[in-house]
Amino acid sequence: PKIVIAIDGFSSCGKSTTAKQVAARMGYAYIDTGAMYRSVTLYFLENHIALTNPKAVLDALPHIHITFNFNPKTGRNETCLNGLNVEEEIRKMYISNIVSEVSAIPEVRYAMVAQQQKLGRRRGVVMDGRDIGTKVFPDAELKVFMTADAVIRAQRRQIELLQKGEMIGLDVILENLKKRDFIDSNRSEGPLRKAEDAIELDTSYLTLDEQIDWVIQQADE
Ligand code: C5P
Repeated sequence: PKIVIAIDGFSSCGKSTTAKQVAARMGYAYIDTGAMYRSVTLYFLENHIALTNPKAVLDALPHIHITFNFNPKTGRNETCLNGLNVEEEIRKMYISNIVSEVSAIPEVRYAMVAQQQKLGRRRGVVMDGRDIGTKVFPDAELKVFMTADAVIRAQRRQIELLQKGEMIGLDVILENLKKRDFIDSNRSEGPLRKAEDAIELDTSYLTLDEQIDWVIQQADE
C-alpha cells in the first residue's frame, strides 16, 4: 500500500471529491490544500490585508491557524480558520475570484507548504492541490495528475455552486477556472505542473466511482 497519494491538476477536475473518497476507503487522512489557500484569502479579505504589501502579508501569516476538524454530526471534516468553521464561506465565488492571486504570493506558499508537510507523513494521507507531487511531497508514492475538458469542469462547478445556493452563469465560471489555471500555472513559486512521474487521468467522461476505483487500483499496484 502507498503512504502519500498526491492528487494534482486543474481546477474542478474532481480532485477533492475523488481524494476524499479514496482516503475514506483506504483509511487514510485527507488534506484539502485548496481549502488552506482559500482560508488565507478569507483572512486577508476580512482583515483588509493588501496583497501588494509584502510586510502586511508576512505579519499576518503567523495569525492564521487552519485546522481540519471532524464534525460527528455531519460525518465530515470542516475547515476551521482560527477555530471558526469556514467550510461554506471559503467555497463561495468571491473567494474563488482572488484565491489564485493570494496563492501566488511566495511567502503564503512557504507557510502553507510547511504546514502541509507536517500534516502529511504522520500516516497514510491523500492530499490534493496543485503542487503536491512537485513541491510538497516530491517523493510521494503515488502521483495522479487530473485533467478534464474546461466546459465540463465549468458545468460540474456550476452544479456544485447551485447546490450551495449560488446561481452563477456558465461563462462566468468558465472565465474563473481559466483565469485561475493560468495564474496557477504561471506563478514563480510552486506552479501547477504535472510531476514527471505522475500518472495523468482525464476525468471528462468518467463517473466519480470510476475515478475513485482508478486511483485505488493505482495505489494497490
Ligand atoms: O483546489 P481549489 O480549487 O479549492 O484551490 C483553490 C486555489 O488555491 C487554486 O486555484 C490555487 O490558486 C490555490 N492552490 C494552490 N496550491 C495548492 C492548492 C490550491 O495554489 N496546493
